[in-house]
Amino acid sequence: MENTVSIYNTASRTKEVFQPLNPPFVGLYVCGPTVYGDAHLGHARPAVTFDLVYRYLKHIGYKVRYVRNITDVGHLENDADEGEDKIGKKARLEQLEPMEVVHYYTQRYHKDMDLLNVLSPNIEPHASGHIIEQIDLIKRIIDNGYAYEKNGSVYFDVLKYSKDYNYGKLSGRVLEDLIANTRTLEGQDEKENSFDFALWKKAQPEHIMRWPSPWSEGFPGWHLECSAMSARYLGNQFDIHGGGMDLMFPHHESEIAQSVAAHKEEPVRYWMHNNMITINGQKMGKSLGNFITLEELFGGTHKALEKAYSPMTIRFFILQAQYRSTLDFSNDALMAAEKGLDRLLKAHTLIGSLKTGENSTSDIASIRKNCYEAMNDDFNSPMVIANLFEGVRIINSIYNNLETITGEDLALLKETFDTFVTEILGLIPDETLAGKNEKLAGLMEMVIDLRKQARAAKDFATSDRIRDELSQIGILLKDSREGTTWEIEK
Ligand SMILES: [Zn+2]
Repeated sequence: MENTVSIYNTASRTKEVFQPLNPPFVGLYVCGPTVYGDAHLGHARPAVTFDLVYRYLKHIGYKVRYVRNITDVGHLENDADEGEDKIGKKARLEQLEPMEVVHYYTQRYHKDMDLLNVLSPNIEPHASGHIIEQIDLIKRIIDNGYAYEKNGSVYFDVLKYSKDYNYGKLSGRVLEDLIANTRTLEGQDEKENSFDFALWKKAQPEHIMRWPSPWSEGFPGWHLECSAMSARYLGNQFDIHGGGMDLMFPHHESEIAQSVAAHKEEPVRYWMHNNMITINGQKMGKSLGNFITLEELFGGTHKALEKAYSPMTIRFFILQAQYRSTLDFSNDALMAAEKGLDRLLKAHTLIGSLKTGENSTSDIASIRKNCYEAMNDDFNSPMVIANLFEGVRIINSIYNNLETITGEDLALLKETFDTFVTEILGLIPDETLAGKNEKLAGLMEMVIDLRKQARAAKDFATSDRIRDELSQIGILLKDSREGTTWEIEK
């Protein structure tokens, strides 16, 4: 491997040289969405962050198996194993089958991810499709003595585990503090200790999502699915586990405990956590009125937004910060990102029209080298972008005949932009993504021309039919004095 990557490992709180277990293969697991509502800004950051990691590791030659799950069962409203299942509740309120809720929001999540140019993972397992693996894992944990059954539910014995292993090693929590700070909630008297967590919950009569198990008809605890599915697809130990910082405790801490209790082996070699987002300096939350879905952001329909921001602007904005820094969304910052992205993409297209000369006035090779060094240093995308903007300056200077470039350097510059702008940062014009490609443009030109002819012949039935049928498939025609233009409905 020509490039050596350093990764900040949350488990050790240091940057470590990345050495996969079985090179050139890399196992990457990232916690995906709980599909009971539309994707929002908080979903965009981990998706883009680990898309960057996935794209770069592939680019430098690793064969990556990227697993990102869909949580469709077991995520209760309250992290302390109480409350309704988030998906079950939505299904009850909207009088739908839980799987209808899951299907609907999974599809909408995929649509948002496509717009953000986030590549699909290699496997996207559903928790509900892996109940057998989860039951099997619980049996192992019980057999090894780290879980107990009570009234048909099974709980992880944190105290027992802590005698043999370190519960709290990832998040830095200390068991004594947990003992002092977790209060026993009502209905939790089944637990031996309030900080124990559910591996299996017996379903109450009104609970719709339920499966048979050796202990009761019920459903798995939320943390369990990631341990079961990562082991199923990546092995008991694998390379990288990612997710948002908010998942570090209790979710990831519990994942480690479950896997170690079952397999007596550390599941993850490198833990990566992206930092959180804020909006105008505030945490995002429904009660604060700043809870913005991606659809609202792309359409500019939320009252906190001064305008719509394209998916690529959002992607660029996220990549402008290193994934471990906090990221604050504001109209000013997004507008600045929109301008910056526009300059970058325009310069990228300009490369094709640059003339070559006898010598180069700038050092192109070092821009390329700096981009690789930045990515190798814990995926430092803002540093890559800074170097690409040095490239933008050079491109514009050559275009305006203020600088010159040799044919060889021009090819290198083009390769650097193609690699880093398009392939690794995944930044492409929104129109390209929306399907406005050249063939479609040619076809639309023909259709608009036919409609124009029909109108000239006063065949308004045909011209209206063309407009209406296009509108039905989501292509809108707009007539003006200058002629007819079209756009794809978002
Ligand atoms: Zn998870």
